[in-house]
Amino acid sequence: MTRHYDYLAIGAGSGGIASANRAAIRGAKAAVIEAKAVGGTCVNVGCVPKKVMWYGAHIAEALKYSADYGFDVEQKGFDWATLVKNREAYIERIHGGYKRGFAANGVEYIEGFARFVDARTVEVNGEHITADHITIAVGGRSMIPTCPGAEYGIDSDGFFALTERPNKAVVVGAGYIAVEIAGVLHALGSDAHLLVRKDRPLRYFDEDITNALLERMQQDKLNLHTNSSVAKVEKDPSSGLLTVHTVSGEVIDEVDCLIWAIGREPATDQINLAAAGVEADELGFIRTDKYQNTNVPGIYAVGDITGEAQLTPVAIKAGRLLAERLFNPELPDAHMDYSQIPTIVFSHPPIGTVGLTEVEAVAEYGEAQVKVYKSQFAAMYNAVTQHRALSTFKLVCAGPDERVVGIHGIGEGMDEILQGFAVAMKMGATKAQFDATVALHPTSAEEFVTLR
Ligand code: NDP
Repeated sequence: MTRHYDYLAIGAGSGGIASANRAAIRGAKAAVIEAKAVGGTCVNVGCVPKKVMWYGAHIAEALKYSADYGFDVEQKGFDWATLVKNREAYIERIHGGYKRGFAANGVEYIEGFARFVDARTVEVNGEHITADHITIAVGGRSMIPTCPGAEYGIDSDGFFALTERPNKAVVVGAGYIAVEIAGVLHALGSDAHLLVRKDRPLRYFDEDITNALLERMQQDKLNLHTNSSVAKVEKDPSSGLLTVHTVSGEVIDEVDCLIWAIGREPATDQINLAAAGVEADELGFIRTDKYQNTNVPGIYAVGDITGEAQLTPVAIKAGRLLAERLFNPELPDAHMDYSQIPTIVFSHPPIGTVGLTEVEAVAEYGEAQVKVYKSQFAAMYNAVTQHRALSTFKLVCAGPDERVVGIHGIGEGMDEILQGFAVAMKMGATKAQFDATVALHPTSAEEFVTLR
């Protein structure tokens, strides 16, 4: 007998889980299918293990500052394997939490790889499963370049599988993942090299922020190689060490860990989209309308697979709102608002950004209508230490009422500061309203309400 559901999510990552749980809470008979580990990229090989590693790096940095705070600490070593073991145990607990959540909500969790048979049917482990509504939430995977020797490198999944600290690591790429992994490796004591093919990483971020990141990388002696494209990689058969050759003739040798972080591609190629008639674009992303509808009625897509902002909270929100629209008669128009999405890069220090960069604001409103406020200051945390480092905070305002249309910052605590300010911006706050808010002192956050 064929199992039938009201709602079926393919992929138990952030989007699939959130949508299936919400569908079940709204009374639907729901199931979610997953071929790998519950939680998808974010929980297993993304946000969660990354943040744990970043906290580890944070502690390494705190140890660096400790002498200036009067501590006489001798660091005897750092055991990468202990950090990884505790990180993975935490992830195991999250898996348990998800499975208990499914049980509590009445969501059926099916392990296996799903392929479409037709627009209402998927095949899993030889069984046909049908559903009135099917959401594709299969996410993406890292891209690997085609240069000779590319196979000697690993991707971010491979980074999280490392059981010991690399001595000398080369990270290739210029996005979130490259910056975050290079920063963690550097802080935890690897000789880390970040290779970007253009003049800077995070090129689409506000330039004042990336300038500050570049200064900080230089100050911290992270080896940033700009205008550096990899031409080939060679492996010494006896030592196993790699030599990375760039197009401009630079040679980085004795590398024991090469990590590709050049972007992610959609994982749509094996789920037999054609059988369901679902169209993907030339890159494999499944583009949807604002209601997450694909071109086939009753089939939806959420999360990284849509090619929209590839962020966990976006997938979760889109998934929940889809389930509300389908199963909550009070919210027939529920849909995700993809504007003004705040995001953090867990660099060192972290970067937070929401809304328009200065360049984007000028393009949208015209130069005369844009006013920028910014401040560079030493956060108190490291103002008293020898490793003095500057934070940069910036507001981009537009129009005669100086509505805040962009908030950008790099500095200690920025990862926790941005959320509340993003609420204010979403509500349409003006610079005057920021100024009318009494500062919290002494914090870095207060800069945002005292900018002149
Ligand atoms: P991104 O798409 O963010 O960045 C990859 C960058 O690598 C490109 O923009 C490009 O930058 C550069 N690149 C592309 N091809 C090559 C190449 N052949 N050689 C060298 N460099 C190349 O990808 P990521 O993999 O970093 O991240 C994927 C997504 O995951 C992000 O978009 C983000 O949404 C999400 N993410 C979010 C995090 C967070 O919220 N903190 C953390 C990690 C990931 P250029 O053109 O400048 O060279």
